[in-house]
Amino acid sequence: MKKRIYLCLAHMSGREMEFIQDAFDTNWVVPMGPNVNGFEEDLEKFINRREGATPLKKSVVGLSAGTAAVHLALLACGVGRGDEVIVQSFTFCASSHPVTYLGATPVFVDSEPETWNMDPDLLDEAICDRIAKTGRKPKAIVPVALYGMPYRIDRIMEVAARYDIPVVEDAAEGFGSRYRGQMLGTFGKYGVLSFNGNKMITTSGGGALVCETAADKNKILFYATQARESYPYYQHEQIGYNYRMSNICAGIGRGQMTVVDEHIAHHKHVQELYCEWLAGVPGIEMHTNPDADCDANFWLCTATLAPELRIKGQDEAYARVVAGAVGGAASVTHAAATPTTDCQPNANVEALRVALDAAGIEARPLWKPMHRQPVYASAPSYVNGVSERLFSMGICLPAGPCVSDDDVRYIVSQIKAAVEA
Ligand SMILES: *Cc1c(COP(=O)(O)O)cnc(C)c1O
Repeated sequence: MKKRIYLCLAHMSGREMEFIQDAFDTNWVVPMGPNVNGFEEDLEKFINRREGATPLKKSVVGLSAGTAAVHLALLACGVGRGDEVIVQSFTFCASSHPVTYLGATPVFVDSEPETWNMDPDLLDEAICDRIAKTGRKPKAIVPVALYGMPYRIDRIMEVAARYDIPVVEDAAEGFGSRYRGQMLGTFGKYGVLSFNGNKMITTSGGGALVCETAADKNKILFYATQARESYPYYQHEQIGYNYRMSNICAGIGRGQMTVVDEHIAHHKHVQELYCEWLAGVPGIEMHTNPDADCDANFWLCTATLAPELRIKGQDEAYARVVAGAVGGAASVTHAAATPTTDCQPNANVEALRVALDAAGIEARPLWKPMHRQPVYASAPSYVNGVSERLFSMGICLPAGPCVSDDDVRYIVSQIKAAVEA
């Protein structure tokens, strides 16, 4: 039986156990300690470097999850009950759910077709319209580096500056991606990183927030550690959270940072192989850097299928209710009530997913836009059709250090075999 090929599997450097052993030897088995500090320093060194320019001076705080980083960044931007936050609609739910945790409302903005990320013109329009309709400015703007592709951060920062609204970059999928030589996560007021098991690097579960200043970092640390005041006893004047990173997890992170550049290089290599080997297949198009400003990490490699492309078995796609999680990777405990919804990928995409799954290859549709998610039915949205069209046509393919050249050759051969002659 051939090994199963996953979308993005964690890949250890071999150094992780040294740092974990050190935590045990020194009894730092708590959510703070030398590994947390060391990992934050590694992250700062990594994120602050720039091509042909002096390094930046951003601070990084290690947290228990990327979702926690989004939550605390919004909290620090003053988001509260009744506020609005602009969020890229084409994203994973962790970009928008924390808006709801805070009692605020997400306002979804659609993507532009080049990077698939937040459309700066539509962002401008949305802010204008929210001010006209509510008399108040949105409290923050959350662009997302989907699949690692950089957003048009120069244009987004220009719009944000014009209205004086802070930007929280969701670079959870874009760790190590650059725009004009500068790392994603370092442009906005805050930058979100994730080290979940399937991300560019992992701490098993974890995240971090990139902060502009040491004072901002202190503010985040305060909220991440139950908002304690410096009295000899527990004194609480604000509501805090238990969101600090564990010293054990940070040990994994330090091991991972020894191979982060190799990991990213390998993701880019896999992307190049797909581009080369799928080039001759009509109706299948890889999503690539649109220009030299964008330097994606290709966390996941993605492709779109032309609606007229015929995939074997597509007439039977969606005939059955899917049981459990696609690919078996995530914990899905709710059963689907129906085989279909009113917004889903085209039949050829689902047929290709099923064909690859049968061949031992995990593939997944693109993320379903938040403005089409039932849970956000009442949230305002500013749409242009781009994310919905991409969702109907797109598929994510395996990437990362665990995917060999032979694996890509096999995946491409299975894609070609699935196309109707
Ligand atoms: C993974 C992810 C997050 C959150 O990260 P966790 O560490 O899983 O909480 C946030 N935003 C996006 C776009 C993500 O893909």
